[in-house]
Order: sequence, then structure tokens, then C-alpha cells
Amino acid sequence: MQREVDVVILGAGPVGENIADRVRAAGLEVVVVEHELVGGECSYWACVPSKVLLRSAAALRAAKRVPGAAEAVTGDLDVEAVLRRRDYWVSDWSDDGAAGWLADAGIGLERGHGRLDGVRRVVVSRDGDGDGDVTLVARHAVIVATGSDPVIPPIPGLAEASPWTSREATSVERPPARLAILGGGVVACEMATVFAGFGTEVVVLARSGLLGGMEPFVGDAVTAGLRGLGATVRTGVQATLVERTADGEIVLTLDDGSTVVADEVLVATGRKPRTDAIGLERVGLEPGSWLRVDDGLQVQGADGDDGGAAWLYAAGDVNHRALLTHQGKYQGRAVGDLVAARAAGRPVDLGEWGVHAATADHAAVPQVVFAEPEAVAVGLTEAAATKAGHAVRTAEVAMTSASGAGILADGYEGRAKLVIDDERGTVIGATFTGQDVAELLHAATVAIVGEVPVERLWHAVPSFPTMSEVWLRLLEADGRPEARA
Ligand SMILES: Cc1cc2nc3c(=O)[nH]c(=O)nc-3n(C[C@H](O)[C@H](O)[C@H](O)COP(=O)(O)OP(=O)(O)OC[C@H]3O[C@@H](n4cnc5c(N)ncnc54)[C@H](O)[C@@H]3O)c2cc1C
Repeated sequence: MQREVDVVILGAGPVGENIADRVRAAGLEVVVVEHELVGGECSYWACVPSKVLLRSAAALRAAKRVPGAAEAVTGDLDVEAVLRRRDYWVSDWSDDGAAGWLADAGIGLERGHGRLDGVRRVVVSRDGDGDGDVTLVARHAVIVATGSDPVIPPIPGLAEASPWTSREATSVERPPARLAILGGGVVACEMATVFAGFGTEVVVLARSGLLGGMEPFVGDAVTAGLRGLGATVRTGVQATLVERTADGEIVLTLDDGSTVVADEVLVATGRKPRTDAIGLERVGLEPGSWLRVDDGLQVQGADGDDGGAAWLYAAGDVNHRALLTHQGKYQGRAVGDLVAARAAGRPVDLGEWGVHAATADHAAVPQVVFAEPEAVAVGLTEAAATKAGHAVRTAEVAMTSASGAGILADGYEGRAKLVIDDERGTVIGATFTGQDVAELLHAATVAIVGEVPVERLWHAVPSFPTMSEVWLRLLEADGRPEARA
């Protein structure tokens, strides 16, 4: 069976859904192809369940830091209740609601595995047998939004030991007594926080320090925070052998000769593109590779793009620009608008388009690590800014310099840092650690994207006594403009 539509989207994760919404709202006929659950990784095995699993223990810790409330906390975390709340938030792994939303929005859904089959063509294997195949021919564009999968590193014995990935961790039914975690990135730190909060004996094994892409004080803070929860954090170590014994235990041998014994091992060592079985070879591309895109999110090097006849785009994790739902959805809105404009024959200034995409995807990517403590950052670290050739100055203060932090929690610990482009006088990076700093991040994103001169920020007066007053302390640490002139 063959069907012609305006736009075909491969993958109905958060990014595919967003693109579909955008192009449909522009009046185009769109079909999304999904072989698992509408809503993707984010809704069922990543952002949503992980944040729900983290929330209850974080609330409990917050209450215990406030005299008066602390005395009222007389019991332990109710893990069963946490898991029930998680089940609610992932709709018991049913996508009825999400699929219903697509239908209401007038977006077509083809359930099955989709793969490219030449220029503007996508074949969907509906049931895994050829009889059910449908060929979708796109009048305007095919947009790949197939996401990413966890990497299982080639450590002898690891794959055979049935390791957990983020999927098993976020869909856990009974937390193990002992959990070893390989990796020191965001997923490793968040999951260590979840399971330590559940009372699991957690050992984090990381090749280098935790959260290495962020300002160095972040890794130190999260290492201390996890240890404070009772987790063991070992950095500078690597597993060289993993075995699951006959009685089900996991034994990890490390490169320093020591061993760690656990009930499960969670692999959180990075992601790879979900592009090995989507027919890339049929359009001149390498299967299994990240899809290289320009700032218009057009896939580079695909067949049929000669003479500017763009047809193949990629958005979200699969293009490797920023593996975050909000960034992927941003790309989804951008590519949706771009495809709709091109379909309508409206001129598109790709130069301007590219500037916006580059700012959002490279210069101002906000990220929240919901670990203990929270760690959030946007823009460039001091090291990255210097490496990129910016002349920078920095301002750094303790979060407790804002009375709001001290009122929020006794013994509050956290830091704030701004990286300022010394020539332009604008903020190009910001990092905060501490309880509940996530909500401070957007102000920094606005300052960076808006290229607000630091002198102007003095007039953005934060309320007393909120944690946002840390902005004032940062400006004071930077120095009054007239003193610098
Ligand atoms: C544990 C964890 C926690 C995270 N927490 C956060 C967070 O708090 N905030 C945040 O911003 N990001 C977070 N992320 C990252 C976030 O999950 C991803 O960036 C996001 O899911 C990417 O969306 P996507 O639509 O590109 O891909 P996905 O969500 O992976 O969706 C891709 C969809 O395509 C479908 N698909 C793939 N191939 C085919 C095919 N050939 N045919 C048909 N369908 C196909 C898949 O089944 C899937 O539904 C987290 C990630 C992990 C692992």
C-alpha cells in the first residue's frame, strides 16, 4: 500500500510530537511513525519517571532541613508510594492518552517500524511481516526524530551480565539492596540520588570526576552530596570484568584490582544514535551514525538534496546537538516552521535562522541535574569560554550570600558562578548548585539569550528574601560598573 502525505516524521517521542504539532498547525498533512510508545523515551523511561522518582526523597530531605517541619517527619520514605506515583506519571506505560492527543490534533499515526526507502519515501513494517507494509511518500519532507539508545561499553562480561540501563532503573519495581553504577554523568548522578534515597547501597564507579562537562565545583558538590546520602563514589576507576554469579550477584573487577559486589549494575556511560535500522544506506548515509545537520536541521550528505531541494531533516537526540528534551522540542518547533514555510513557498533567510538555532543549541543550552544537590548550568563554563577564545571574567559566591537560601534550609550549601564576556559585558555562562536552584536557571538563560549587558542587570531587582538575590551578590562580586570603567 502506498500513501502520499505532506510530511512524514520518523519517531513519536517528544520531538516528533512537537514537529507534528507545528506542521499540522500550519495546515500540512502529517503522519508520525512510531514502533513503541507515543511520547518516547522521555515520557516513559527518562525525564518524567526519573524526576518523579527523585521528588519524594528530595521533599523529605527539604522538610528535615527546616526546624519545626523536621520534627513532624517521623517515618521513612514510602518507596511503594513513590513507585505508584511514578506509575501514574508514566500512565502505566500506556500511550492511549498521547495517541488520543495526536488524533485530536489531526495528526496521522502509523504504528510500526519505519525506515527510509529512497528520497522522500518511508516504509513502515506494521506487524513485522511484509503484508502489513505501507509506503509513505512525502511531498515536502521526511523528518527523523528517532532518538538515542544507551551505550553498553565493551567491558568483558558486561553484556552477558544483563546490566540495567536507564530503562530498567526508571521502571524499577523493587529497588535492589545493592546497586553499582558505571558512569559519572547526569544519568549516573540522578540515579545514584534516586536509589540512595530508596535506601539502596549505591556504589558509583566513574572513570573521571562526576559531571565533568560542568564547572569543577559541581562535581565536588554532587560527590559530597551523594556521599552524604550514604552512597560510595569512586572516581578514577574502570571496570575491567563483570560477572553475574550463579546466585545472581554481580561482581565487578576494577582496574586497580579491587572488586565490587552488587545485586544489579546500571550502565550510564553515554548514548548512541537510534539509526542502525532506519534505512540510512538507502539515501547515501551511514547506518548507526549520528545525523549531521546544519543550522536549518537539514541532514547533510543525503541523496536527493542537490540543487537545494531539501527533503530530509533530523531533530532531537538523533542529531547529537543537545541530548535534552527541551532542546529537541526547540529544534522541533524550528524545523516545523521551516518545513511549513518552504512548503508554502515562503522565502526563508537561513542565515538568520542559523543564528537563532546556533544560539539555542550551542551558546545557551540550559541543563538541570536533579541530583543531591541540584546542579544547573546554561551557556559556557569558564574553561569552555576561554577555549572558545572569549576574554572572560567571572563572579562566584556562596548561595547563602542570599538570605533566601538560608531561610529555605538550615545548613544550606551551594555556589553560584557567572562567566562574563569581558569585551561585550554580557553573561555567557551561569552555574548554580544547591537545593531548589533549578528555578534560578531560566533567568540566566534569558540574560544569555537576550545578551543583556551586565550593567543593565543591576536594574533587574530580585525580591527579598528569595534565592534570586544571589544575582545581586554575583553583580556585587563582579564589581560596580563605574569602578571597572
Ligand atoms: C534517565 C534519563 C533521564 C533524562 N532526563 C531528562 C530531563 O530531565 N530533561 C531533559 O530535557 N532530558 C532528559 N533526558 C533526555 C531525554 O530523554 C531525551 O533528550 C529525549 O527523550 C529525546 O527526545 P527524542 O524525541 O529525540 O527521542 P526519544 O524520546 O528517544 O523518542 C524517539 C521515538 O522514536 C521511536 N522510534 C525510533 N526508531 C523508530 C523507527 N525506526 N520506527 C518507528 N519509531 C521509531 C522510538 O520508539 C521513540 O518513541 C533524560 C534521558 C535519560 C536517559
